[in-house]
Amino acid sequence: MSPDTNLDLNDPRLQEMLSKKIAAATALLQQAASHFAPTAFANSLGAEDMLLTDLIAKEALEIEIFSLDTGRLPSETHDLMRTMQKHYNIKLHLYAPRPDLLEAYVGKEGEDAFYKSVELRKACCHVRKVEPLQRALKGKKSWVTGMRAQQAVTRCGLQGQQFDATNGLEKFNPLHDWNEDEVWAYIRMREVPYNELHDKNFPSIGCAPCTRAVKAGEDTRAGRWWWEEPQHKECGLHDKNA
Ligand code: SF4
Repeated sequence: MSPDTNLDLNDPRLQEMLSKKIAAATALLQQAASHFAPTAFANSLGAEDMLLTDLIAKEALEIEIFSLDTGRLPSETHDLMRTMQKHYNIKLHLYAPRPDLLEAYVGKEGEDAFYKSVELRKACCHVRKVEPLQRALKGKKSWVTGMRAQQAVTRCGLQGQQFDATNGLEKFNPLHDWNEDEVWAYIRMREVPYNELHDKNFPSIGCAPCTRAVKAGEDTRAGRWWWEEPQHKECGLHDKNA
């Protein structure tokens, strides 16, 4: 997703739609914090996740915020981690890969094995993302993500609240029905900090070696694992959405 500088933020229809969606997203966050506590928000530092960070901070909701520090994130994402914590005066919990699992994987397959096959790419995502996520969710009754149904074919059936059978807890997707313009309208209206890579045609941002800028007209997820078919483009954190 790239910032749309042509958005008319004074458009009354946009403002009305936005205020309805903000109210619905806030209600889902409140539901997670009050009825499915303890809850945690998996923050990937993408545009949607910065929007949710803004809502959680402004509403002072009891939701832990964490990120998966895979060891391969772009420097711009680390910059945003620092900016975000200062801007909102909040703590971002970081979960890194287990050193023994990482050493075994890299030792056997090599540092950049993800380019060789979908299986080796998923194995890397498992060590660097899925296993740390499982630790982050341990003891939680629910978790929150910034996923939207429109982002990818793998996410088209996404709901605001659904049971996550893989991890055994409730999952909240407060932005499931938001579109790209609405996300950027929120970010612009409320001056939410965001990853500077979005200004360089990176609509979706993950690990540095697996993310590239997209060309005009390309899908928002086209820059993620661009050498794979669209139906494979999940890292294992959200596989059951398809
Ligand atoms: S996105 Fe790439 S580098 Fe990051 S964990 Fe997955 S395969 Fe590994």
